[in-house]
Amino acid sequence: MTAAEPSLIISGRYLLPQARQTGVLENHGLAISGGVIADIASTETLRSRYPKARHVHTEDGLVMPGLVNSHTHAAMSLFRGLADDLPLENWLNNSILPAERQLTAEMVYWGTLLSCAEMIRSGTTAFCDMYLFAKEVARAAAASKMRAWVGEVFYDFPSPSYGPPEQGFVYLDEMFEKYREDRRLSVTINPHSVYLCSPGLLERLAEIARSRAAIVNTHLSETAGEVKTCLERYGLRPAAHLDCLGLLTPNTLAAHGVHINEEEIALLAERGVGISHCLQSNLKLASGIAPVPLLLEKEAKIGLGTDGSASNNNVDLFTEMKSVALVHKGVSGDPTAMPAETVLHLATMGGGAALGAAATIGSLEVGKKADCIVVDLAASHLTPLYNLPSQLVYAATGSDVRHSIIDGEIIMRDRKILAFDEQEVRAKAREYAGKFRAGM
Ligand SMILES: [Zn+2]
Repeated sequence: MTAAEPSLIISGRYLLPQARQTGVLENHGLAISGGVIADIASTETLRSRYPKARHVHTEDGLVMPGLVNSHTHAAMSLFRGLADDLPLENWLNNSILPAERQLTAEMVYWGTLLSCAEMIRSGTTAFCDMYLFAKEVARAAAASKMRAWVGEVFYDFPSPSYGPPEQGFVYLDEMFEKYREDRRLSVTINPHSVYLCSPGLLERLAEIARSRAAIVNTHLSETAGEVKTCLERYGLRPAAHLDCLGLLTPNTLAAHGVHINEEEIALLAERGVGISHCLQSNLKLASGIAPVPLLLEKEAKIGLGTDGSASNNNVDLFTEMKSVALVHKGVSGDPTAMPAETVLHLATMGGGAALGAAATIGSLEVGKKADCIVVDLAASHLTPLYNLPSQLVYAATGSDVRHSIIDGEIIMRDRKILAFDEQEVRAKAREYAGKFRAGM
């Protein structure tokens, strides 16, 4: 227990500390002090122990860990539905890249906030972002009060955000300085991929990551084309190439990992690399399906990611969880593959571990950050109830989330976001969409 008296109690009919049905506690809650879980006990006990604390009790509520979105490009919410059902190259070169060339810092701020609204509403309390104008992503994340890992994307050519590559390092330094002591926001190092970053750039970024003890967030083996390019240029597959450059470490978070062979699966697991499984994005762009059951057999650290809304087209981890549970059964022909508890674990602790934050987020334990959600179980589609992880993965939707608490602060209460004006965010997004539609 922390020294200060808890100021907030969150309780409900059930409390699910981790993704296991056997751990369910009835009529329990959390007491929160200074952004940290100070106590977990029955609602009655908490009430009598901390009579002065504000108490939010939800009669049919489930108190559970907030979901962790381990890979997104939040501002791409502005491109939701702009170009769908196209081959990847056509999609990227003729729709997304031209639209991105028109992006301004202000657009990135509002686009990020739009995704934050959507993530909060669908139970995500922490996310890891890679995009342009990352200072604006960070500003939006701070305004939303979500926990976030944010970094500016690096590649070999000039960026609309910082200009020539060399300026990118100055931009990054400034971000590290600004958020050094931040409770919710961590700055990450984001080389885009092995195909857009030279070995020299990758090595330099690896060095900065070591000196700053920061997470390296990169795309890895998303498409077969990427693997072919890497083999042609360097004679190595992407994971081996990154390993040679010192980028496969427990502080690395690799998104996708679709086209990886057995050797790479073993290597990623052995190096302790975190992997963000972005199934819906990979399906939509027909990139393939990451061998997640095999990675889990090797005890790799895996979280779930939505990727950006241009390739998903939402950032709702509830729909992502259901897809993950179903698709791996379908492709393997094994109905026992990816059970609900495993999938829920990936969406919570798995994401926390992949971000190097297993000790602070991903489960509800005394001493951990008070990042939790309350899911309303009263609805018809959640009745009757036999097994909570199963209900959450197969039957619940993001809109069943009623309250969200991040760093001990109520961010959404009865489905109203308290930290910012959602209507204003939507109005901005519509205004920008008009500009993209008109070709600006
Ligand atoms: Zn991505």
